[in-house]
Amino acid sequence: MKSNYRAISAFAVILVLVCLQSAAAQKKPKVVILATGGTIAGAAATGTQAGYKSGAVTIDAMIAAVPGLADMANIKGEQVSNVGSQDMSFDIMLKLAKRINELMSNPDVDGFVITHGTDTMEETAFFLNLVVKGEKPVVMVGSMRPSTAVSADGPLNLYNAVGVAIDPHAKGRGVLVVMNDWIHAAHSLTKTSTTAIQTFMSPVRGIVGVAAYGKNDFYNTPQWKHTTASEFDISRVDKLPRVDIVFACADMPRDLIDASVTNGAKGIVVAGVGNGNMNKASLEAAVNAVKKGVVVVRSTRVATGNVGRNVEVNDDEAGFIASDELNPQKSRILLSLALLKQRSNTEIQNLFTTY
Ligand code: ASP
Repeated sequence: MKSNYRAISAFAVILVLVCLQSAAAQKKPKVVILATGGTIAGAAATGTQAGYKSGAVTIDAMIAAVPGLADMANIKGEQVSNVGSQDMSFDIMLKLAKRINELMSNPDVDGFVITHGTDTMEETAFFLNLVVKGEKPVVMVGSMRPSTAVSADGPLNLYNAVGVAIDPHAKGRGVLVVMNDWIHAAHSLTKTSTTAIQTFMSPVRGIVGVAAYGKNDFYNTPQWKHTTASEFDISRVDKLPRVDIVFACADMPRDLIDASVTNGAKGIVVAGVGNGNMNKASLEAAVNAVKKGVVVVRSTRVATGNVGRNVEVNDDEAGFIASDELNPQKSRILLSLALLKQRSNTEIQNLFTTY
C-alpha cells in the first residue's frame, strides 16, 4: 500500500515537472536560424592553422556547439545554402528573402538569425533590408575564425545574435548584423579588416547598440527606409538585372566601362576616387554608357563620407546618379532592385537618398 502511494507520488511529481518544462518551452521565444555558410560554418584540420574551408559544418552542428542557446529560445535550423560568401549569389539571396517573407507571418516564429560569411555580409544584409516584409527581427551573424579554431568567435556571436533576434527592442530597426558584441544596421556597416575579429564598422552612422551574452543595449535607430517601409517587392522576381562595379584609379583606362556596356550591363557603379570622381577618359565612357540607356551611379572607393551631386562632376548634364552614403557594393544592390521597373533618373536618385 505504502509503495503504491510512493509510486503514485513519484509519478505525480514527474508529471508536474514535465508540464512545467513544456510550459517553459512554450513560453520561450521561437527563432529560425537560416544558415548560408561562411567561416562561422568553416572547419580546419587543426585549431591553429590559417587555412580552412568555409561552409563545411551544418546548422545543427553549429547550434549544438553553443552552450545555453537552447535555454534562451526554441531554435529551428534550416540550411539555405552552405557556401563561402564569396560565392553568395542573387539566386541564394532571393531564396533567403522569400523564405523569410514566407515565415514572417507564422505565429510560431518570433525572430530570424541568418548565418553568413563575412566577405559579402553587408551586401546580403542590405538586400534583405530592402526586400524583407515584416517587423520581426532579422539578424545576420558570422565569424572571422572557423568553428575549429582556438578561440573561435562564432559561438558567442551566434548566442548574441539569437539574443538580439528575441529582443522586442530589435523590432523596427531593419535588418541587423551582430558581430563581436556590436549591433550594426544593414545600411551602414562595412567590413574593414581582412582578418581581425573586430572587422565590421559603421563608420559614418555608428553602431545601433551592443550585445552581451543575450542582453542588449540599443541606442541608435537607423533613419533610412527599410523592410515594411520599402517599396521593393521580390515576390515575383527570380532574376536581377546585371549591374557592374568598376573600380577607379589613377590613369584608368576607359575599357572596363565600355566592356560592361558591351556585355549587357543595365547599370554601372563606379567606385570612384575621392568624391566619386574618375578621369576624363572614364567620364567620357560613362557619359556614352548613359546615352546607351545604362544607369551610371558614382560611388567611391573611399571608406567613409558621402558622394554628393554636382561637386566636381556635373551629374545633371551627364545624367549620373550620386550614391550619397552607399558604398559601391551596396549601391549595386540598390540599383539592381531599382532597375526592376522603369524609373526616371530623379526617382533613382531619390532612392539613393532614402534607402
Ligand atoms: N570567405 C569567408 C566568407 O565570407 C570569410 C568569412 O566568413 O569570414 O564566407
